[in-house]
Amino acid sequence: MSTPPPLASGPEGPYHLRPLLDTVLDALHTGGRARGGPLPAGGPGAVTAAVRDAVGDVLPDQGDPDALRTLVHAFAEGAADPAHPLCAAHLHCPPLAVAAAADLAASALNPSLDSWDQAPAASALEALVTRALAHEAGHTDSVVTSGGTESNQLALLLAREALGGTVRLVHGAGAHHSLPRAAWLLGLPDPVEIPAPTGTLDPAALDDALTRLPGPHLVAATAGTTDAGLIDPLPEIAARCATHGARLHVDAAYGGPLLFSDLHRPGLTGLEAAHTITLDLHKLGWQPVPAGLLTVRDAQDLTVLRHRADYLNADDDTEAGFPDLLGRSLRTTRRPDVLKLAVTLRTLGRAGLGALVDRVCAHAQEFARLVQDDPRLELHDRPVISTVLFRPAHATDTDVAALRRHLLTTGRAVLGRARADGRLWLKATLLNPAARPEDLAGLLTLVHQAHAEGPR
Ligand SMILES: *Cc1c(COP(=O)(O)O)cnc(C)c1O
Repeated sequence: MSTPPPLASGPEGPYHLRPLLDTVLDALHTGGRARGGPLPAGGPGAVTAAVRDAVGDVLPDQGDPDALRTLVHAFAEGAADPAHPLCAAHLHCPPLAVAAAADLAASALNPSLDSWDQAPAASALEALVTRALAHEAGHTDSVVTSGGTESNQLALLLAREALGGTVRLVHGAGAHHSLPRAAWLLGLPDPVEIPAPTGTLDPAALDDALTRLPGPHLVAATAGTTDAGLIDPLPEIAARCATHGARLHVDAAYGGPLLFSDLHRPGLTGLEAAHTITLDLHKLGWQPVPAGLLTVRDAQDLTVLRHRADYLNADDDTEAGFPDLLGRSLRTTRRPDVLKLAVTLRTLGRAGLGALVDRVCAHAQEFARLVQDDPRLELHDRPVISTVLFRPAHATDTDVAALRRHLLTTGRAVLGRARADGRLWLKATLLNPAARPEDLAGLLTLVHQAHAEGPR
């Protein structure tokens, strides 16, 4: 019998990994060079064909020792690289090198956070980090999630367990789509959407709805809307919720990390009044996906997640002092996403993270100024976080949509799209702290070029 392939952990693991990592890093380099821009040129058809060619037979009868190089090269060549300054469509951040390196250790050791005997140090680290991050938001505890979607689902679940199955979600028009979807998933009454004519939840309209509709209510406010980066007026919303006895969730998936910045933290005043808060550190937090959290004001709220499985957290093991981890998630097997987070927090500190937040917010201000000073462009509004909506002056919605697709299919720039005030806008979500002023100006030059090349 032949020897089995090398393993990533164990005493020999690092020796096995080192040459493979050289291969991976080389292939990332050559793949990125072959791409040459933020996105592969040619659109979906060309990328699909290139991947099909590179992969060949997905499951050959005999293995191919060069698969790591071939596939990582193709993966990198065909990637949308968030570290490219012209890749600015989504809340899709370039991860910090130190966080990606820490994540490698998580992959190699493969702890699973469903029982202490699979993750002794990882579970202790998770307890420390989830509490510290909750405290940063003025809350007592938090649980790790796969992102904002799962955090929002959990927030609705905790509300349902606290208030009963008739709890009705009330949210602003700018709320994330995962919130009404979570109400559907959990079998809750149809959610109520409050119009947001200025982009943020109007407290007077909220007051009306809470007066008019039978309760109980869960109000979901947003700190950093996905489309425009706007922050709902949290203190006023919290006051209305208190008056009406409504529960409050704040979806701060995008805006939450403003907490790290002395300059921007005041924008989140009132956040701590929420019962639950969604935070995503794979957006303004520069983590590899996934890195989500749901914080709770009252740690008791989490007890509804308690769950027993004899092979993971038998009562006698728990009584003997083994931590009971199963109630920290709805998942069972779970990656130690907390390691990259802990390494990032310690490496950069609050000051380092705050400085990154300040940089990308300053880039957005600078970009908005460039748009405003250009008579060929229209700016939707001054940015609040790091999102700028703009469009060529005198363009139609169809032009805007076609221009964006043209930039994507030529691989020149990755911009998003958002609807605001009944019109379609180009969306630049600036999350790259390494972008330079000339990159921002270059992005506008590409928009002008694509617009001049006309409707397609
Ligand atoms: C991105 C986002 C989400 C969803 O988060 P995922 O990590 O993609 O699941 C939820 N709410 C807001 C406001 C977001 O911007």
